[in-house]
Amino acid sequence: MEPFVEENIKMYFYENRLKTFEGWPFDEDCMCTPENMAKAGFIHTPSENSPDIAMCFFCLKELEGWEPDDDPEKEHKSHSPSCHFSLLKKKVEEITVEEFFKLQKERHKFIINKSCNEAVTKFEEAAKVRRADIIKTAMGEE
Ligand SMILES: [Zn+2]
Repeated sequence: MEPFVEENIKMYFYENRLKTFEGWPFDEDCMCTPENMAKAGFIHTPSENSPDIAMCFFCLKELEGWEPDDDPEKEHKSHSPSCHFSLLKKKVEEITVEEFFKLQKERHKFIINKSCNEAVTKFEEAAKVRRADIIKTAMGEE
């Protein structure tokens, strides 16, 4: 992943995150409106079966099963206490270049972590299938 490609830093900005919440099931008279979700760092990442999946653009934590009373900021902090974006005291527009670089470094740790975990899971699943095959073959030869 190229760190400074526009596509990659786009989601640092509230307006761009807000745009992703088209079709979000919670709209008015509740805590988890698109505005509050976007403010808390979330982007809308629905799948076919789950229209209410949202992911933090920074720590990549995915949350679903939202209730109207859920406070996006609180949910974010409780499910991902080490997310630097949710701990940020300033607006993104107000941070220095140095702070931005530091943030990007931390964000990349989350990205690498997630892709490694996904690779490990994939490998373990493939190993399980292979192991079952080997056992089957061994049993058949006895
Ligand atoms: Zn986060």
